[in-house]
Amino acid sequence: KRAAPPPLLSLAGLNAWYGAAHILHDVSLQVGPGEVVALMGRNGAGKSTTLKAIMGLVPKRNGQVRFMGQALEKRQPYEVARLGLGYVPEDRRIFTELTVKENLMAGRQRPRTWPDGRPGLNWSLPAVFELFPNLEGMQDRPAGAMSGGEQQMLTVARTLMGNPYLLLLDEPSEGVAPLIVEQMAQMILTLKARGASVLLSEQNIHFAGLVSDRAYVLEKGAVRYSGSMDEL
Ligand code: ATP
Ligand code: MG
Repeated sequence: KRAAPPPLLSLAGLNAWYGAAHILHDVSLQVGPGEVVALMGRNGAGKSTTLKAIMGLVPKRNGQVRFMGQALEKRQPYEVARLGLGYVPEDRRIFTELTVKENLMAGRQRPRTWPDGRPGLNWSLPAVFELFPNLEGMQDRPAGAMSGGEQQMLTVARTLMGNPYLLLLDEPSEGVAPLIVEQMAQMILTLKARGASVLLSEQNIHFAGLVSDRAYVLEKGAVRYSGSMDEL
């Protein structure tokens, strides 16, 4: 039996605070290369805060965050993104006055190679349109004219343009029409098939089960379960 590859991302004893409110309590988790991991739990359980804390987007945190062998604790969010972490927050951030295509091109394109020397995913515009066919027909329209679900798809697509090794997705299926949910699921499986990893916050157990290898369940900011999707 081969030894498991070292994790791409590992959190050990992660704590986070908003002001005096202690939100995350010793969260530890791992995401391996080519793995899709779901972060589940009720409203307010700390899913979004975990993703934010990985990116350095909470006011105070402690504990260990390691990505591709590097400590992230002291890095600024833009540095974390540069290392190859792509983050799609809950609130959609698009440039409403710019076209869909201009929004996509604003996702900084950064050629990458995997640590073993293989070329990274290096998404091009046509490749992203293959993942999200709806976007191609809309590419010259202002992004502000899109539906909420389409805007969600655009933010994900724009993040892909930065060629992340690991994509952090906060509730990708929330408030999104079934056809787009379907494309989101396909996109996640395509990333996985090409060796990239995904950590997604998800309340929809059906969607999580469709795409994920494993899950962690958070309750009041602490990990209460970790294991296969089947046993959930
Ligand atoms: P949801 O499913 O509703 O998105 P979640 O699991 O993502 O929930 P978080 O958004 O991480 O939960 O919130 C965890 C806790 O932190 C909640 O009690 C929430 O009220 C609190 N919280 C979140 N953001 C802030 C903030 N900016 N300031 C203060 N408290 C916050
Ligand atoms: Mg959330």
